[in-house]
Amino acid sequence: MHLARFPRVRLAHLPTPLEPLPRLSEALGVEIWIKRDDCTGLAGGGNKTRKLEFLLGDAMEQGADTLVTQGAVQSNHVRQTVAAAAAHGFASEVILEERTGSQAIDYTRNGNVLMDRLFGAGMRTVPGGTDMNAELERTAAEVRARGGKPYIIPGGGSNAIGALGYVDCAREIVVQADELDMQVDRIVTATGSAGTHAGLVAGLAVMGADVPVLGVGVRAPKAKQEENVLKLARETAALLGRPDAVKADMVVADCDYVGEGYGLVDEAVIEALKLAARTDAIVLDPVYTGKAMKGLIALARAGRFENETVVFLHTGGAQGLFGYQGEIEGAL
Ligand SMILES: *Cc1c(COP(=O)(O)O)cnc(C)c1O
Repeated sequence: MHLARFPRVRLAHLPTPLEPLPRLSEALGVEIWIKRDDCTGLAGGGNKTRKLEFLLGDAMEQGADTLVTQGAVQSNHVRQTVAAAAAHGFASEVILEERTGSQAIDYTRNGNVLMDRLFGAGMRTVPGGTDMNAELERTAAEVRARGGKPYIIPGGGSNAIGALGYVDCAREIVVQADELDMQVDRIVTATGSAGTHAGLVAGLAVMGADVPVLGVGVRAPKAKQEENVLKLARETAALLGRPDAVKADMVVADCDYVGEGYGLVDEAVIEALKLAARTDAIVLDPVYTGKAMKGLIALARAGRFENETVVFLHTGGAQGLFGYQGEIEGAL
């Protein structure tokens, strides 16, 4: 794969640990390991940090001075982006979409939002359903008009350059599993803006590792999610010089656990948060990893992972918990 050909800025603590979850495994009757990408370090960590290593490398090569990105109000991607900007001397301009409709004070001011302010990001908020790509272009034009050089990072950092971060994660998982003499039968991850899922699939395909990835959807329906992931996985493989490496059947998303919608919490998500915390002291988030674990629990109970060793990719997000106190506390 030779990732060293791509410009990169070091932001993450790597490799992240690959650890067993003995008590959760016992509770679910499936051998479950965890890849700790909640421990990538930057501003509390999470999956966007790996993507940002390659995105900031590209931004620097292009001579940019201002990072422009967007996300939901409690976006972990925005938090990690503005932190990366601060650490490397970029200004940052972010647009937050009121995607969940919540006006709770914790949601609009605490958690990720509080940290965005701490890092000194320029921020504005727009109503749910706004054309966020148009907002990115508009903000970039404003930066240009005042003499700055913007670099647009798409929502979630999900383009082929960002997905290289998860190509590297796939490599890391395979190396760690080989060192442990452990066969990985499946990787389970939350899948949203698609870069994580696509990068893993592209990386595993290019390596010929033959490890299936199950993406648990958090927003879009299955057909749309699989289409997005496949397109990006193919673009990522093409960037690696292997345009034909990714086959359509390598991309599998299960979008049965979204519940009421993106960023909306239900009882099964809270059960997942509690189970992970009270077995192996793993802190999940309500928007992504809580939904992925909701899916993993339901599928494990339905016997879908019989005799498998499953690696759950913890993509981070615990900082978002503090935006959801009202929804969660009463159910604990
Ligand atoms: C963004 C995010 C995801 C989803 O990753 P994508 O690459 O956008 O699909 C999963 N978990 C957390 C905590 C995230 O912040």
